[in-house]
Amino acid sequence: KSFGFRKVGEDEKQGLVNEVFHRVAGRYDLMNDLMSAGMHRVWKDAMVSWLSPPKREDWQVLDVAGGTGDIAFRILEASNRKAHATVLDINGSMLAVGHDRAVKKGLADNVEFVEANAEELPFADSRFDAYTIAFGIRNVPHIDRALSEAYRVLKPGGRFLCLEFSEVEMPVLDRVYDGWSFNAIPRIGQIVAGDADSYRYLVESIRKFPKQADFAAMIKAAGFERVTWRNYSGGIAALHSGWKL
Ligand code: SAM
Repeated sequence: KSFGFRKVGEDEKQGLVNEVFHRVAGRYDLMNDLMSAGMHRVWKDAMVSWLSPPKREDWQVLDVAGGTGDIAFRILEASNRKAHATVLDINGSMLAVGHDRAVKKGLADNVEFVEANAEELPFADSRFDAYTIAFGIRNVPHIDRALSEAYRVLKPGGRFLCLEFSEVEMPVLDRVYDGWSFNAIPRIGQIVAGDADSYRYLVESIRKFPKQADFAAMIKAAGFERVTWRNYSGGIAALHSGWKL
């Protein structure tokens, strides 16, 4: 089945995204390393160090589209295993891999896994100290709904951080990156996960995502203040930050 470069409606989109991640869940972590040449680790570490979680037991982070737990585990380690994380994802297959990893890392008591939609968070208002989302928001059909839900569940003074593929702003690198994403990534997907189409879809979703300044405007429109961003690797990834004040 191919979803390469055809028009997909917003409701159909979530179904396709779910299929992709059910199919690749078991190979997801390996694929991340191969597709980003290990760079996703550096970007994720940078995200957690910008967040600098306090070493406090009452501090709670919600990691949305948290998948196999990569961001949550890093945050928990940075808090000296004191903080509490909720990993939320729409896909039970990704969460199942995350749960096994939490047990192996001895972090099961610090983290819970919730299967739900980023557009309708099953939490009370003003509950979390921080909201993180990494390489997830571009898969959500209604980004504005996910952002207003983020704002709702954060405490006043709470921090929003979003890591996402973005627009490459360096000449030459942009052409190298095009070649890598349109040719190499689907091929790696075929070899490692037996699935080129899913990865073609992921590349396409990166291209459709709003540029850095446009995305910052969407975050502001949801109510966040002091919205800024940092580019990584020439803009291959960008980290947006905002505060609920
Ligand atoms: N944050 C993890 C990481 O950085 O390794 C996983 C990122 S993975 C590329 C994207 C995740 O978004 C998938 O696990 C997928 O199931 C999840 N996702 C897609 N649509 C979602 C939605 N509407 N609500 C919550 N999660 C969603």
